[in-house]
Amino acid sequence: MGKASRDKRDIYYRKAKEEGWRARSAFKLLQIDEEFNIFEGVKRVVDLCAAPGSWSQVLSRKLYLPVKQLPASKDGDLPLIVAIDLQPMAPIEGVIQVQGDITNARTAEVVIRHFDGCKADLVVCDGAPDVTGLHDMDEFVQSQLILAGLTIVAHVLREGGKFIAKIFRGKDTSLLYCQLKLFFPVVTFAKPKSSRNSSIEAFAVCENYSPPEGFNPKDLYRLLEKVGSPSGGDDLDCSSGWLEGPNKVYIPFLACGDLSGYDSDRSYPLPKVADGTYQSLDPVQPPIAPPYKRALEIKKASGHGIRDLEKLPLDS
Ligand code: SAM
Repeated sequence: MGKASRDKRDIYYRKAKEEGWRARSAFKLLQIDEEFNIFEGVKRVVDLCAAPGSWSQVLSRKLYLPVKQLPASKDGDLPLIVAIDLQPMAPIEGVIQVQGDITNARTAEVVIRHFDGCKADLVVCDGAPDVTGLHDMDEFVQSQLILAGLTIVAHVLREGGKFIAKIFRGKDTSLLYCQLKLFFPVVTFAKPKSSRNSSIEAFAVCENYSPPEGFNPKDLYRLLEKVGSPSGGDDLDCSSGWLEGPNKVYIPFLACGDLSGYDSDRSYPLPKVADGTYQSLDPVQPPIAPPYKRALEIKKASGHGIRDLEKLPLDS
């Protein structure tokens, strides 16, 4: 798809470039905030799976820059934003970058060190594995990433804090909902207007972090298994055998963002400049080291394409 064609078919892609966002995902976080006011009172925030960085940009613009621009602001007043991803990303003002894996619990220690031992008010996670197109598989891998995010949450989030995580809706959505409910009394699944209807993506908005009394983060998976297993705790069990009659789990599901605003599934006419042509903008900040970079280099150099990848040693 050409750039202009994508600009036409994806209004949020075009708007992201116009407004200086690195990715269209910025609008998803902004629309979640419109509905849930997630930034209120936030001084410390963790952005899990942050690259190329549009959510970190939102955090910087909403939390860091307004305080920095106050005439009397001191360093100690500035909100702390820690962004983590497997991939490196170009710098963003007010964002501390950590290149790391969120499935490694030690990543939580790194975050706490940056907060001088204090805990975060908000953790956001837009993590996504490489999608295969097999929905069950994608949903499963995505849910594992959320549980990794929840492990980080269990170490770094203060009581009363919020957790926003991308989910893929599927047959185990109610299980995930019950798992999140163990830690958050209020869990809503939200679909921002900028997230296409054709996509199974949605976002879990989890409010008022309240882990069970005496909870030790090391026991997280044991606790989660209890919810997932048919022989688990009586009133916690969300496995399919219990989803009948009064035991059925109803998940609060909310569309968010200005509902009369841009529709992500619609094409919009392109604005023309004076000479009647359309000027497509370049992406704001292409990823600096995407996993596909080497493949593109090889393809360009050889002129033969992807087949040459098979001849490469695995660690190249
Ligand atoms: N929120 C980002 C933004 O607004 O620019 C987009 C995030 S992108 C959809 C998903 C990211 O998840 C990718 O950058 C990928 O590297 C990251 N990711 C996937 N698995 C990860 C893991 N185990 N640890 C850290 N990051 C991971």
